Amino acid sequence: RIIAATPASSGEEAIERALRPKQLDEYVGQEKIRGQLEIFITAARQRKEALDHTLLFGPPGLGKTTLAHIIAREMGVNLRQTSGPVLERAGDLAALLTNLEANDVLFIDEIHRLSPVVEEILYPALEDYQIDIMIGEGPAARSVKLDLQPFTLVGATTRAGMLTNPLRDRFGIVARLEFYTPDELTRIVTRSSALLNAPIHEDGAKEIARRSRGTPRIANRLLRRVRDYAEVKGNGEITKHTADAALRMLDVDIAGFDLMDRKLLEAILFKFGGGPVGLDNVAAAIGEERDTIEDVLEPYLIQQGYLQRTPRGRIATSQAYEHFGILPPD
Ligand code: ADP
Repeated sequence: RIIAATPASSGEEAIERALRPKQLDEYVGQEKIRGQLEIFITAARQRKEALDHTLLFGPPGLGKTTLAHIIAREMGVNLRQTSGPVLERAGDLAALLTNLEANDVLFIDEIHRLSPVVEEILYPALEDYQIDIMIGEGPAARSVKLDLQPFTLVGATTRAGMLTNPLRDRFGIVARLEFYTPDELTRIVTRSSALLNAPIHEDGAKEIARRSRGTPRIANRLLRRVRDYAEVKGNGEITKHTADAALRMLDVDIAGFDLMDRKLLEAILFKFGGGPVGLDNVAAAIGEERDTIEDVLEPYLIQQGYLQRTPRGRIATSQAYEHFGILPPD
């Protein structure tokens, strides 16, 4: 049973939910995390205890929310879901915590954006399953301790480095999600197209997978757009050819970079002579938030070897020069 504490969602999100794997053995890739979780979940279940608090970190769309839901399901408990920016007041979190049943999962997305007052409430809850709340006002105000049921906090963040140390130290399980390989994404695209009843050829699935920035959410989104294209411009079957034509139309290039990726690389190459250039200068040049550049754009470009982060700033690699068909400087 899933109880959403966040507001109702759009159609895109509904499709995303429908494509979400529900069990650990349906979850593609992330072998190391999966192997570890399988053991920790089995052990916790055998002892009839809550799973240790778990921190999941990695770029958006890699499967953190999916994994949180799977953990709750495999533990056989409820999941309550919220996010750092939504929890404004200490009372919001206290209300969620006091409603948890034994061994439930509380999933907090964007946990690095919790406000300090809310974070304060969380510490004793995580450590001793207790919270201190203030009752009354002014001189009559007093603090009362409330006992909670044992529970598991699953926190998700794009960057573990943005968590405060005391919060990070309270997670017993810390898992870093990696970008997916083209083979893994091919499996995800094939599975999703079956769920969507979209006929797909293996080379079509591979083409979408290869151009999805190592990210399941992007693979699923591109699959839906390629399906539209195949239905309107072709006979509905997704082949390598239709996939390629649709992805070109969507401005996804052969390396899988979209307009924003190219804008970032081009700015570094052409406006800043290939770097090194500071993040603030790049952000101003392309009119994008620092956080978006760091969390969404850069991780994949760095992992693929197009970009380097150095103490002096960002540098475009020779691979980036090659991608744009220009000669690197000596
Ligand atoms: P995050 O919370 O990290 O932003 P989500 O868990 O929302 O990412 O995943 C985005 C979408 O990608 C989900 O709808 C799900 O269908 C798909 N997805 C993510 N990870 C996997 C996986 N390991 N196997 C299959 N599909 C996945």
